[in-house]
Amino acid sequence: MSIFLYGCSENSSSTASSKKSEGEVIIRRNQEVALSIDPMLHCTRETYPWEKQCSYANSKITHDFFRCKGNSLNPPRIVNKEKESIRYYDCGGCLKHSLPLRNGKEFIYPILIDLLNDLQNKTGKRVIITSGHCCPEHSRYMSDLPAHLYSKHLIGAEVDFYIQGYEHEPQKVIDILLQYYQDNPKYQGKNSFTSFQRYSKENTNVSTLPWFNEEVFIKLFSCKEGRDFDNRHSHPYISIQVRYDWDLKKKVNYSSIEANNFYRY
Ligand SMILES: [Zn+2]
Repeated sequence: MSIFLYGCSENSSSTASSKKSEGEVIIRRNQEVALSIDPMLHCTRETYPWEKQCSYANSKITHDFFRCKGNSLNPPRIVNKEKESIRYYDCGGCLKHSLPLRNGKEFIYPILIDLLNDLQNKTGKRVIITSGHCCPEHSRYMSDLPAHLYSKHLIGAEVDFYIQGYEHEPQKVIDILLQYYQDNPKYQGKNSFTSFQRYSKENTNVSTLPWFNEEVFIKLFSCKEGRDFDNRHSHPYISIQVRYDWDLKKKVNYSSIEANNFYRY
């Protein structure tokens, strides 16, 4: 008999579960809320201390940014001549050689570094160096043209770059470069530095007349000009060449001795 009683207890359990599933009807009025939530407001994040002075204060341009862009993983460039085809191989880049040397130390003309840092400070945007130093091997890999083989990139006296956010406003960038010579006390009273001229001879590869003073020569390449292995992007860019060595007080010219004066690893 006791077994049957146990069975009755199971029946009472199933009755309890069916009661649970009945639930309770919630009734409230249309505008009635149990918990009011304030509307969401957009809040701007406060700047961190290191962001206040300059967005790129921690990524100041140094000579390291100018290292050769060569890479031994690049495929050989094959040039077919009359009876033979010549293969040009790229260099190993900064893993295989240093920057040009002066007095035994790596050297890039300081005015290039100063101008690019001034641009970063004044625009708050990042300068992208597409071509700084080019070793002879990387230069030959890019082109056989004399303008490449004997350019000032080989001696650390030339840079190609653009500014993120100013890709299509290069004239504004050039205005800042020219203004640098007006604002810097170092050049005050030196008219050959503070006033720029336009270079009107036709022996350039740009359609916009370059700007030059005693120290630098500035070219603006449109989006269809000056494309090479290092400048494989679709927007205009600016090139600065150093014409005058402020420290040695003499003109800067390409020199094969200087171009080959770097460490090989
Ligand atoms: Zn190289």
